[in-house]
Amino acid sequence: MRTLANQRCFNHAAREAAARCPECSRFFCRECITEHEDRVVCAACLKKLAQAPFTRRRAVAGLMRFVQCTFGILLAWFFFFLIGESLARLPDWFHENALWQIPWVERK
Ligand SMILES: [Zn+2]
Ligand SMILES: [Zn+2]
Repeated sequence: MRTLANQRCFNHAAREAAARCPECSRFFCRECITEHEDRVVCAACLKKLAQAPFTRRRAVAGLMRFVQCTFGILLAWFFFFLIGESLARLPDWFHENALWQIPWVERK
């Protein structure tokens, strides 16, 4: 049976295996295995993963960033649009009277 307990490290034949790499399904010792994006992979697979030019995960992350940017710009635009709209809708007396006269009390 190929259990973790009686397996040896792929790189170090003398050492007991500590974990199994899910990418290449080889056994490795504590020193040869590393954590990468919440997964435990061997150094060789980590290098392979890091060199992958454009994984689907990165594509999704890029798309999410693009959507967030667009949404932020739209939100800012909408916010300023609302400010402009409310300023344009201010009644004329607001511009003609001085503010210190309390226009809502001494209105003509
Ligand atoms: Zn591996
Ligand atoms: Zn090792």
